[in-house]
Parts: sequence; C-alpha cells; structure tokens
Amino acid sequence: MTYQTNLFINGAYEAGQGESFPAHEPATGQLLANVASADAGQIDKAVRAAHAAYQGWSQTTPKARSLALLRIADAIETHAESLADVEAANAGKPWRYVKAGELANVADVFRFFGTAVRNMPATAANGYRSNRHTSLLRRDPIGVIASIAPWNYPLLMAAWKIAPAVAAGNAVVIKPSENTPLSLLLLASILGEFLPEGVVNVICGNGPDVGQTLITHPLVRMISLTGDVRTGRAVLKAAAGESIKRTHLELGGKAPVIVCDDADIDTLVETLREASFYNAGQDCTAACRVFVDRSIADKVTDKLATMIGSLVYGAPKQNDAEFGPVITAAQRERISGFVERAREAGAEIVAGGKAPDREGYYYEPTLVAAPIDAEIVQKEVFGPVVTITPFDTPETALGWANASEYGLASSVWSRDANRAMHIANRLEYGVTWVNTHGVFATEMPHGGMKNSGYGSDLSMQSLLDYTQARHIMLAS
Ligand code: NAD
Repeated sequence: MTYQTNLFINGAYEAGQGESFPAHEPATGQLLANVASADAGQIDKAVRAAHAAYQGWSQTTPKARSLALLRIADAIETHAESLADVEAANAGKPWRYVKAGELANVADVFRFFGTAVRNMPATAANGYRSNRHTSLLRRDPIGVIASIAPWNYPLLMAAWKIAPAVAAGNAVVIKPSENTPLSLLLLASILGEFLPEGVVNVICGNGPDVGQTLITHPLVRMISLTGDVRTGRAVLKAAAGESIKRTHLELGGKAPVIVCDDADIDTLVETLREASFYNAGQDCTAACRVFVDRSIADKVTDKLATMIGSLVYGAPKQNDAEFGPVITAAQRERISGFVERAREAGAEIVAGGKAPDREGYYYEPTLVAAPIDAEIVQKEVFGPVVTITPFDTPETALGWANASEYGLASSVWSRDANRAMHIANRLEYGVTWVNTHGVFATEMPHGGMKNSGYGSDLSMQSLLDYTQARHIMLAS
C-alpha cells in the first residue's frame, strides 16, 4: 500500500523539507512510511496561505460554508474504506470499528457544523443606552487557527477541530501527531476538493520544533490543542509570547466511575467492556478507575475480571478484535511501568498485567485493585488498564473524584435517580454519565475542567468558541 506523505499547503501537496520521521504500524511494529517534516519556511508558508485564504473565506455566507462542509461529509463517506485502511493501520485500531464508527462520526461532525453555522445565535438587540443607540451582536471568525492533534483518534480529533473552525469562517493550519500523520494527509485531498486553497493546511513534524514554531507564529490568532496536560502548559506559554493568542485546550483525563450499592452490575460490566477498553483504553474519557461501594466490591471485581478475560484483542483486520495494540513501544513501556510500580507497592493485579508474547505493541487488558492514593489510581495511564477501589460512602467517592487534578469525564451508577443526580450534579467534570459511560452526542459539548483544560469540542458551544462576539452600535 502506498501512503500520502506530502504536506498540504495552499491547496496543493508538496514534499516536506524538514527532517523525516517514521510512521509505524503498531500491530506489527513495521514501518509504513517515512514522512518529511515541514521546515520553518513551509510552516511560515502554510500560515501565510491560511491568512490570505481567511480574507476571502471569512466573508463568505454561512450558506456557502455549510454547503462545502456537507459535501466534505458526503465525500468522507464515499472514501470511508480507504480512509479506514490508513487510520486502522497507522493507529492500530480494528478496521471495522474505524469504518463503521469513527469515520461515520467524522462525517457527522462535518455535517453537524455545516448545519449549525446557519443557525448560529447572534442577535440584533435593543437600544441599551437610549432608543437612538441600536446595539447589534455579531459572531465573527477569529483568523488563523493553529490546531494541534493527538494520536488516539487522528481523524476524529482533526474533524473536531477543523469543522467548527472552518464553519465559523476561520482558516486552519493543523499538525497531526508525529505518530499518526497518514490519515489526515489523505483527508487533506478531500478537504482541498471542496474548500478554497489555503483554508485548511496540513503540516507534519514533532511537537517541540514544528508544533512550537507553528503556535508561536505572529499571524496565528488562536491555538487549539488536544493533548497532554504538559503540552497544554507549553501552549499557554506560547500564547502569551509576542502576541496574545486565544487558546482552546482539550487535555488529559482520569474518569472516575462511582458505583453505588444499588447499581445494575451486569449493565455496568457490559458497558465498561467498551467504555474502558475501546481503543485499548487510549481515550481521554476511558472509564479507567472504578470506585465501588465496599458491600458489592467483591462481586463487581469478579464480574469485571471475567469480562476482561473474555475480551478479544488483535490486528486491525482480525474480525472479532475489540481493540488493538497501543500506539508505540514507548507507550507500552509507560503502561507497563505504571502496573509494575503498582505491583511493587502492594496492589493486587486481578487480571492481565503484562505485555503478551507476540509481535506488535499489545498490552493485556488489566484490572488492578489499589488504594485511592496509589499512583495508578491518580495518574493518567492511557492504556487498557482499569483500577478498582472500594469506598464506604458515596460521599467519600465524590470527594475522591473531585480531588483529582483532572475534570473531563465521569459516571455514576445507581438505580435511584435522586441519589445518582445528587452525586452527578456535584461532580467537577465536563461530562457525567448516569448509568452509562462514553456515549457521545455531536449536539452536546465535550470539554474539561481543572487540568483537563477548557473550551468545548462538538455542539453549538464549539462553534461559538471559534468566533469572537462583537458589539456594533448604531446611533440614529
Ligand atoms: P501530546 O500532548 O504528547 O501530543 C499532542 C500533540 O501535541 C501532538 O501533535 C504533538 O506533536 C504536539 N505537541 C507536543 N508538544 C508540543 C509543543 N511544545 N508545542 C506544540 N505542539 C506540541 O499528547 P498525545 O500523547 O498525542 O495524546 C494523548 C493525550 O491527549 C492524553 O493526555 C489524552 O488524555 C489527551 N486527549 C484529550 C482529549 C480531550 O478531549 N480532552 C481527547 C484525546 C486525547
């Protein structure tokens, strides 16, 4: 298979002039392609192309932008197989899930923002100072957006960034993760077919050099990152350099799952099959730490261990695989380090707990019984690892959850709606599910609190995040 490895700048592909880096297949560890990074001149060229494109794109009507996004959504569906081939190979995901699930969501995101922009709320208001002063509220685009994407859902995270920004009339320079550049480089040809040149540019390279040069460019007005908390700090520093830039940060997570003594345990365990292990747990909302009422802790632990024992993992084209390898050998080392340190500190490894003896970067689905202050319960592991910790009262679990540095996703499990809502309403997390976990709606905002960042992906809220509210006053 041949891969598109060229950068996409000002509506055309061109070879990167910077250092080249390898894109691997996590399922085998084999090289898929070498990709050449953008050099400083190409980063500047991409930002200038976006800046020039912005002058025209920002003046188009919502209807014109909507049509472009709707056509992109259709084309993504038409090319879903080839996009899925690249995404599954480079990110190590089951092909059938990428094609039927993730790519359907990518198309849906373009369709949603293509529709939302025609309904964006910006109202003409009354005279507030006197009846001779009429105030108008406009929602205008911001300018050039530098978008930095992670490797866990390369196309979906790119769609979450590109679609609202472009719908609102901005122009984008996006950098995929150096681990997974290939699918976005392919998607660029579809974007380029329906958008004027320069509206979306894709450049590749590592974070500290290429990413940093992009986000500090003087013509960049906003930086949108999905990534690690540490990278979020680098973005905030860059945003406060020579110019003041807006920031939009979707960072890490460590989702608590609070299980009360009256929870439906079978539904919980079946839900966590996907909510904890989809994408090998490399998901910022993964249900990765279960806080369970002590009276049912043994039962829940046993059922989780049985479910974990029945999980099937394997290569992208293995038809029954529920998840694949983790992204790199380094990521597997990191996961293994967490589990080994937990073991040494006295935690019980209830299931899994090692890398299987096979090619590729696989790690066994793992369940660890550990106390609340254990590193593995507090820090983001980002792998197929779930911890379980018993509590004596739900208030204790609520306190544990809210004491976390993270505030992205959480869930509460109880058959008593009042009890569940009483906990859900006080959780300091951007999303709380009740009696489910990991279910997304494009119409609803996704975003974090605390060190998980701020700003919303998805929903009308995200579209508004990529606009500036402007007041125009007319005196008569
Ligand atoms: P990462 O922060 O290492 O990398 C993300 C991107 O940032 C990459 O493109 C990388 O090249 C770039 N980058 C790194 N340093 C940079 C710098 N100094 N300047 C500019 N760009 C820089 O994260 P990752 O390992 O790719 O992704 C995993 C992380 O992303 C996890 O913490 C996960 O929780 C988080 N995540 C969050 C969400 C969310 O919605 N909140 C969604 C997916 C992933």
